[in-house]
Amino acid sequence: MRHASAAFDSHDSGLQPSRGVVAIVGRPNVGKSTLFNRTIGRRKAITAREAGTTRDRVYGDVEWAGARFALIDTGGLDFSDQQHLTTNIRLQAKAGASEADVVILVVDGAEGITGADLEAVDWIRQLGKPVVVAVNKVDNDKRSHNRGEFYSLGFDRVLSISALHGRGIDDLLEATFQLLPETSAQVDADDDDEITIAIVGRPNVGKSQLLNTLTRRDRAIVSDLPGTTRDPVDSLIEFGERRIRLVDTAGIRRRGRINPGAERFSVGRALQAISRSDMAVLVIDATERVSAQDMHLAGYVDEQGKGLIVAVNKWDLIEDKAGARLYIEDWLRSSLAFARYFLIEFTSAKTGYHVDRLFKTAELIHDSRRLRVPTPALNQVIQKASQMRRPASTKGRTLNVFYATQVDVAPPTFTIFVNDPQLAHFSYVRYLMNQIRRAWDFPGTPIKINLRARPRTGNRADEH
Ligand code: GDP
Ligand code: GDP
Repeated sequence: MRHASAAFDSHDSGLQPSRGVVAIVGRPNVGKSTLFNRTIGRRKAITAREAGTTRDRVYGDVEWAGARFALIDTGGLDFSDQQHLTTNIRLQAKAGASEADVVILVVDGAEGITGADLEAVDWIRQLGKPVVVAVNKVDNDKRSHNRGEFYSLGFDRVLSISALHGRGIDDLLEATFQLLPETSAQVDADDDDEITIAIVGRPNVGKSQLLNTLTRRDRAIVSDLPGTTRDPVDSLIEFGERRIRLVDTAGIRRRGRINPGAERFSVGRALQAISRSDMAVLVIDATERVSAQDMHLAGYVDEQGKGLIVAVNKWDLIEDKAGARLYIEDWLRSSLAFARYFLIEFTSAKTGYHVDRLFKTAELIHDSRRLRVPTPALNQVIQKASQMRRPASTKGRTLNVFYATQVDVAPPTFTIFVNDPQLAHFSYVRYLMNQIRRAWDFPGTPIKINLRARPRTGNRADEH
């Protein structure tokens, strides 16, 4: 497989623009999450999270043929807070698929076509998206004749796979990739003065209202013009000396106009907006708890190496503000522990309270993402850290940390040269990350570490 890579020794190609969004749909138990994990799994061994929490992932990036696309496991989207459990599955799938570029419909090759498959096919067809049918659980050649039956679903592309055993995955990815739109010519110019922000969050938390307050007439450079057939996709704002681009605000406005409630939650656009931005503002409702969807979005932001602000909105509705503030900060930090660096703002889109602070905080994060630390100071931190806590040995061999250098910004990325990256335990990389952060803070942004093997110099002192 093309994804294989030594632990922590990553050539992070996260800089390629995303080719689009692919949604995995299908009835329960056909193997959607198995397929998802198999497809995105490999690369994940190399990104160390900053805290030990595991979370179920439902969004991830797939790298294929030198390009990248976002993958959604719709089975993992949880709408169980929507009261009607029966609508949960359908909402999941729709939220994930409605704005995807390609749909992978997973069916069970061992069981054959069921009523639930047909129901799924009905609404998938209405979406008018390109579809690849993945006939799963074809674990051996004996089962491969089962595929024929699934052509009757009416889609041209039908492939046999075994998500569990990794059969047919390359062909599936290739077929999917072929259906993705060509990369648009628009390569975001890395204009250091412009800050690009994605506003994301569940329905009804106040995104549209926040947007209206942020883009108030006196400073908007481009805003929706009444009577035009096409909304501008982004909103541009002058903020002091800065230009701020709010990414895909048309998506927020349009959704708000058309559908109420959970029907409006559309993941594809949010993921695309995040990947085009420097940072995300994750809006939550101060009167509600953090939901699984919030965590998934934050997880995707983290994975993409973007900055994160959590806007606790509807702050006007909170009476005991001092008490609530501590309490909310506390549960946010523990719910989103994997992205502990995020910054919080308490806002009211309704009254305008602290809304402009979002931009101030965005500027802070913008600068923090572009910070370059001096190499000698970095090496002092790394040396001291590795003396304070020695790595555990693996099969009698011990990791040796030699030197470090910052290789990139936005997000700040460090390469640490060691004797053998395979010897590095996940928790040790996290420890080094924390030490770097302790020295320079990097508010609001993730940082990344790559481990590289230092070319052998014959220095025997390396091995002890
Ligand atoms: P989901 O509900 O569609 O996400 O399905 P899961 O990924 O949770 O898989 C449901 C069950 O099918 C699990 O027990 C998996 O281990 C099993 N499964 C998934 N893929 C395969 C496969 O390719 N072959 C076989 N034999 N079992 C599989
Ligand atoms: P979106 O779905 O996230 O875009 O949410 P909207 O902006 O459409 O807001 C959903 C509802 O919450 C609307 O009735 C808004 O008037 C209300 N709302 C939005 N922001 C605030 C706020 O800061 N305070 C209060 N009290 N209500 C708000």
